[in-house]
Amino acid sequence: MALKISSRIKLNNGIEIPYIGLGTYQLRGKTAHESVNTALEAGYRLIDTAESYYNEKEVGEAIKNSRIPRDEIFITTKLANENHGYDNTLRAFEGSLKRLGLDYVDLYLIHWPSGRLRDETWRAFESILNEGTCRSIGVSNYTVRHLKELFKISSTFPAVNQVEFNPYIYQKDILDLCKEKNIQLEGYTPLARTKKFNESILKNISEKYVKSRAQVLIRWSLQHNVIAIPKSSNENRIKENINVFDFEIAHEDMKKLNSLNENLRFSPDPHNLK
Ligand code: NDP
Repeated sequence: MALKISSRIKLNNGIEIPYIGLGTYQLRGKTAHESVNTALEAGYRLIDTAESYYNEKEVGEAIKNSRIPRDEIFITTKLANENHGYDNTLRAFEGSLKRLGLDYVDLYLIHWPSGRLRDETWRAFESILNEGTCRSIGVSNYTVRHLKELFKISSTFPAVNQVEFNPYIYQKDILDLCKEKNIQLEGYTPLARTKKFNESILKNISEKYVKSRAQVLIRWSLQHNVIAIPKSSNENRIKENINVFDFEIAHEDMKKLNSLNENLRFSPDPHNLK
């Protein structure tokens, strides 16, 4: 079935999530509010924030002002690294809800698998899930090792793992394990922060389909069944990034893009986190 802007992926708990969301890292204050507002008007229904982005308040306000029914919007936020541990997590989650001005979030993620406290953190995530103030729980920056360790301590599998993912960091081992365990992969930095826009294979494919480099990269994620959360504060680019449902990258071009992996990272390598 052809993907549409209204297409949704069913998570392992039955909850549905859009294929594209607005990333909000580094969006602050009025810019954060306006960007979320523009994205919602352009048809985005997934917004990705985090305690450590210091914009939960503005994201929440923009959602409220949009007058779009709350249950049509999917909100993700994340636990900051300094708040791992059972009680800290419960407190941090309350703080996020309060700043967002919401009764519930759709997805709460462990932002980074830092430290040995993460098992306790996951227990707190399970109790938040049971309380119903969060519809799904998941992780971020979990490598294969971190996931396998989590499987040993809990029978609650994460609904989502959010990791760095674009053709220049094609993390196939994590993608394959998540597929096998029915954990949805969500790709961050889907545009490789534009740093590869002059790379020749991407350039040629972009010209062939008459779509921008950003659109090709986002579509590549979607065709891997990976959610993409591009960040932009620019109205035209926010609209451009969701205009990816009118073309399909052919198998041979997907293969060419798949071959570009060079483990390019803009965030720290979580393989180094114990
Ligand atoms: P992206 O790959 O989304 O790139 C963002 C950059 O691309 C910005 O400089 C933006 O500039 C520019 N841009 C956006 N659209 C276009 C376009 N169509 N044409 C040209 N340039 C464009 O990087 P991010 O690192 O921001 O990743 C996206 C999101 O992923 C984050 O915002 C955050 O929500 C999440 N994330 C999660 C992490 C985690 O640890 N879980 C870590 C890092 C990110 P401009 O705004 O001017 O358009």
